[in-house]
Amino acid sequence: MTNVTDLFMQIVQIDSVSGEEKDMSNHLVDFFTQVCECKPVKDTYNNVFIQSNGEGEPLLLCAHMDTVEPGRGIVPILKDGTITSSGDTILAADNKAAIAAIMSAVQYMHQHPEQSWRPLDILFTTWEEDSCRGVIGFDRSKIRANIGYIFDGTGEIGDIISASPCYGIFTVLIRGRSAHTENAHEAVPALPTLMEIIHKIEELKSEKVLINIGEIRGGTAKNTIIGKFKIMGEIRSMYSDLFEQTLQKMRGILSKKYDCQLEWEVVQENSGYIFSDTEIEPIKKVLEKLLNRKVSIHQSFGVSDANVLNQDPQKLKVFNLGDGSREVHTTRESTTVENLETMKDLILKLAKNQEENNV
Ligand SMILES: [Zn+2]
Repeated sequence: MTNVTDLFMQIVQIDSVSGEEKDMSNHLVDFFTQVCECKPVKDTYNNVFIQSNGEGEPLLLCAHMDTVEPGRGIVPILKDGTITSSGDTILAADNKAAIAAIMSAVQYMHQHPEQSWRPLDILFTTWEEDSCRGVIGFDRSKIRANIGYIFDGTGEIGDIISASPCYGIFTVLIRGRSAHTENAHEAVPALPTLMEIIHKIEELKSEKVLINIGEIRGGTAKNTIIGKFKIMGEIRSMYSDLFEQTLQKMRGILSKKYDCQLEWEVVQENSGYIFSDTEIEPIKKVLEKLLNRKVSIHQSFGVSDANVLNQDPQKLKVFNLGDGSREVHTTRESTTVENLETMKDLILKLAKNQEENNV
């Protein structure tokens, strides 16, 4: 039996940046075919879905296989119980720490059939870091569980993310006409239109609505009047009605007449979720008992597969929990052997068919 740290060290060395998860998904199909008598199924998005038999209430465990860049040729280094990359890539603890913990837990379960385990629905997704496209494409009607866990949040293992925002993106292409500064009369400068639009978009921001223009492209030379700009950005809000209103206002701004022509797109990518205190409380109780510590609850402006899986909370509630890793999405990302062990143990405890785990 391979321990969770060894499994983690192995799988972070399988490159799987978003859209290139094939080797990783094949590895998981092979692993689960060998360690449990269940048949992993791969869909057209390369998501891997595994269902195990058991007793009691089914439980969903979900983790994403893809990573951000720089995520190629990762060399994990274990020193004094802490695991980092060699410094020029991410580590991919986000989200392979959770994958390793699930692999190790299922391996243990299979080797201990004398204990009673809940039926598991295990979903490994693709494209999470790129608008959750994998889970969006997954046929969610296959999931039997009405409760699930993802370890893809900030915080200590088991800390609960109680809310996550609706998420939208916008792209605007401003088309004027460029000209040499000597022939300014031939130009339709794109800069005044750009400034006008940015000003109006900035006015939509509030404490409850986060808007970010993350990219502005335009210009070729200092002696040329710019005739074209492209701007790209995102909108996040916990409040679906405010979010909707903002998208409408944004569309209104972009539909107006300007000196330059506009081509634009405003798209909602994910819905958000807010769990109420009554929904969180039983989960908190279970986690505190199993972890033997107080867990904290916080809202996150980050988006995860849970946003998609929580679209029909009457049917399925998925809680995104902290994974204990640090500085994810940077070359300083790290986790610890203790984190990996704690996550695996928590998964095993949640998977045990005991009355108190079923909420
Ligand atoms: Zn993640």
